[in-house]
Amino acid sequence: MIKKLHPLESIEDVEEFYARLERSSLTKSLSPERPYTYWTIELYDKANGIRGGGGLGVLAADTRRVAEQMNVPLTLITPFYPSEQHQECKLENNKLINRTRSSKVNYAEFGYNFVDTVNIRCNNQLVSLDVIEKNLGSTRILCITEPGFGELYSGDSGGDHRLYQEVALGFGGYQALKLVGLKPAIMQLNEVATFFAALARLDELASNGMDFYEAVVYTRKHTLYTNHTLVQAAEATFHYDQFEHYVFPNLKSPAVKKWLSDKFDHGRIKLSTVTIEIAELRSGVSKLHARVANYHELSGKKVKFKPITNGIDVPTWTAPEVIKYLNEQGIIDKFYLPTEDYETKIDTITANKIRSLKLTGRKALNKVLETRPDQYGNHIQIPEDALLFEFKRRFVDYKRPWLPFANPEKLKKILKEHNAHYIFAGRVHEGDTRMYDQLQKLLKLIDGDKILKERVHYLPDYDEELGRALSLGSNIAINTPIVGLEACGTSWMKDIINLGILISTHDGGVADCPSDSYFNISGNTEAEEVKMLYFRMLDAVNAWKNDFDLEYIIKTELKNFLPVISGTRMLKDYLDFLF
Ligand SMILES: *Cc1c(COP(=O)(O)O)cnc(C)c1O
Repeated sequence: MIKKLHPLESIEDVEEFYARLERSSLTKSLSPERPYTYWTIELYDKANGIRGGGGLGVLAADTRRVAEQMNVPLTLITPFYPSEQHQECKLENNKLINRTRSSKVNYAEFGYNFVDTVNIRCNNQLVSLDVIEKNLGSTRILCITEPGFGELYSGDSGGDHRLYQEVALGFGGYQALKLVGLKPAIMQLNEVATFFAALARLDELASNGMDFYEAVVYTRKHTLYTNHTLVQAAEATFHYDQFEHYVFPNLKSPAVKKWLSDKFDHGRIKLSTVTIEIAELRSGVSKLHARVANYHELSGKKVKFKPITNGIDVPTWTAPEVIKYLNEQGIIDKFYLPTEDYETKIDTITANKIRSLKLTGRKALNKVLETRPDQYGNHIQIPEDALLFEFKRRFVDYKRPWLPFANPEKLKKILKEHNAHYIFAGRVHEGDTRMYDQLQKLLKLIDGDKILKERVHYLPDYDEELGRALSLGSNIAINTPIVGLEACGTSWMKDIINLGILISTHDGGVADCPSDSYFNISGNTEAEEVKMLYFRMLDAVNAWKNDFDLEYIIKTELKNFLPVISGTRMLKDYLDFLF
C-alpha cells in the first residue's frame, strides 16, 4: 500500500529535515539507542499484521510511517493481538444480520522476530509475555503478546481483561524495551490506556536508588500524554481491588505504590487522573479539541493541552498520481510538506487535471470494489461518469451516519437528477444495539425504494483498504459530527488530499481552518443542519459540473488544509514541542 515516490535518499536530505526543526539539540536527544517511544493500545497497520478500530490506531501507524520516512529513531510499543474482529453484515429477508467473526493472526507471517519473554504478575500468577519485534528503517514495532491476550477492546472498558491488557503493555512493554537495549528519550502516551508504561518507568527509577520526588520529576519531564477524548467524566474507572490484583504486584518501590494508592477517590481511579500527574507534557489532537477538552489535575487546576493537530501519512493515503502532480506543480516538497509558495502554486491546478486524476482514483476504487461486497453480498461498480458521495467512518452516534437519510426524498432527488451514487461504510461496535438498530433502519429504507436501492450502497467491514479506496474514488465526502464531539478526525484529510470536495460540520481538525475553506454545514438545530446538508450536496454536484467552481473549491481546500494534512508537519510539531 505504501508507495514512496520521493524517499529521502541521502543523508543530506535527512540533515535538511532536521535543520528545519529549529531545535538543534534534536540529533543529540534522539539516537537509535535512545529513541522516541510511542505507546499505544491500538495500532491500525494491517500491512504489519495489526488491525485497529479507528482513528487512534491510524494515527499511531501514520506517526511511525512518517518517522520512518524522515529517518527519526522511533520505537512504537503496542500489543500484538492474536485474533482480530471482522464484521459480517447482510440484509436478508428484510432483517439485518450483523455478526462479528474472529480470525486468528500469526505474527510470524508478518515478518516479526521473536526476541525473548518477559513476565508480569497478575492475579497471583506469573504471566509470560512474548516479546516480538519488526525493524522498519529508523523505526521499529515492538510488541508483547501471548496466546490468551484476546482482541482489541474486548470486554468493557473498566473490566479486568482490559486492565490486564493495559498492564501487560505498560509493564511488559517497558521490560521489552530494556530487553532490546533501548532507553526512551521521550515516552508519548497515546491515550490513557498506556499509563502503565510511564508508571513502570517511575517504578524503575524509584526502586533503583533515585529519590522518589526526583524520579517523579524526571518521569514527568519526559512523558507526553496525548489526549483524544473530550470529557474526563465519561471515562471508565477501576476499583482498588482490581489494582491489588493486576497493578500493585508489578511495583517494586513502596513509595510508588503509596503514591498510586493515594490517587484513589472512594476506592476508584480514573487513568486520566494519574496520567495527568505523571506527564508534564500534554497535547490535544486539534486546535478546537485542545481548547475544549475538559480535564482537571487533582489539585483542581484545569489542564492545558498543547494543540498538535493530527496529520496523515500522505504517501499511504493519496493516489500516487496525485502526489506526483502536486510535487511537479511545486505544491508539496519531497517531505510531503507544502512548499514555501504553495499557495501561488496551487493556482496552477486545472479542472481538467482534477477530473482526470479523479478518474484514475475511480478506477482504483472499482478495483477494490471487485473484492468488497455490499449489504446484499453483491459486487458493485460505480460508473465512471457518475458522481460519488461517500460517508466512511465508525458507525457511532455522534458522527451521525443517518443524517443524509433524514429526508429520503431529497436524497433520492439529488442522486437521481445528478446521476450520483452514495456509498457509506463503517462498523457498528460490538454490543451497540442502538447503532445496530440505526443501521438496520437505514438498510431497510434503502431496500424498500427502487432509486435508493440502485444508488445507495453500504460496504461492511470498513477498514484501511476501503477508507483509502473511497478517498481516491469519490467526488464528495460527507462528515457530520455533532459540533464539539470530534477530537480531530482524519478521514476528511484523505478526501481533501485526493482532490475531493468536503461537506462538513465545523468540528475537530476541520475547525483548524475558517468555515469557508470547505462546504460548511451549520445550524442551531439538527433540522437546520439537515436542510443545509442538502443545499451543500447540491452545491457540490453543481461544482463538479462547472470547471470554474470546481477549481475554486479544490484550490481553497488545499490552500487552507494542506499544512494541516501533512503528517510530516505533525511530527515536526511534536519534535518542536518535545525537544
Ligand atoms: C482514516 C481512518 C479512520 C479515521 O477516521 P475518523 O473518523 O476520521 O477519525 C478510521 N478508520 C479507518 C479504517 C481509516 O482508514
